[in-house]
Amino acid sequence: MNFHVLTLFPDMIKDGLGTSITGRAIDSGKITLNAVNIRDYTLEKHGHVDDYPYGGGAGMVMQAEPIYRAYQSVIEGIKNKKRPRVLYMTPQGKVFNQQMARELAGEEDLIFLCGHYEGVDERILEMIVTDNVSIGDYVLTGGELPAMVMIDSISRLVDGVLNNKDSAEYESFSDNLLEYPQYTRPEEFMGRKVPEVLLSGHHANIEKWRKEQSLKRTMERRPDLLNNIL
Ligand code: SAM
Repeated sequence: MNFHVLTLFPDMIKDGLGTSITGRAIDSGKITLNAVNIRDYTLEKHGHVDDYPYGGGAGMVMQAEPIYRAYQSVIEGIKNKKRPRVLYMTPQGKVFNQQMARELAGEEDLIFLCGHYEGVDERILEMIVTDNVSIGDYVLTGGELPAMVMIDSISRLVDGVLNNKDSAEYESFSDNLLEYPQYTRPEEFMGRKVPEVLLSGHHANIEKWRKEQSLKRTMERRPDLLNNIL
């Protein structure tokens, strides 16, 4: 799976995703990460990529041309003839969730467009964007963190990225339930014991306990998720 990120801060993307599980997935070729610096595509002699908003108002707006040229360079480099989805990171988009991550993990190439400042000239959004995606109802300074959040969660659903395939299958949201509590050694920590059933070696009982705990936790913390399975 190939991730292409149009950004003014490519180092942030590369540094953020270049460690731990995503870093290993990049090194082993399970995923590729192409962080494209929009500034490299400006025709403006001082390297500007933004300008004042028409109509006045606070802040600067990213211009259409460098984004269009950066986008074209990505499209030209993609062998797959199918036009890839272009995801614009915006607080005005559909809120990202695990179901969306699963759907996007089926794509071969994805292009992420990261805005900055006050945002992006609307005309380029109309021309290239297929999906407007938000990571939550709050405003960040740029789309880089949202793109990294999405790439991280999509990557772990790509075959071979996680060592243990079960990790992605049985965790929170996989069946609209939150995951059961987890424990590791020692058996007792400051007087708190690991639940007896987990030490029993009885697989059916462990499975039953985990299902009950998942349900209980979901009811307590995220009862809204249960509407999706009823
Ligand atoms: N003026 C814009 C508005 O009110 O919708 C917000 C611009 S924000 C300061 C700058 C950039 O950060 C946006 O273009 C977008 O790419 C990104 N961004 C901010 N919050 C986000 C969120 N919750 N989800 C995804 N992207 C976000």
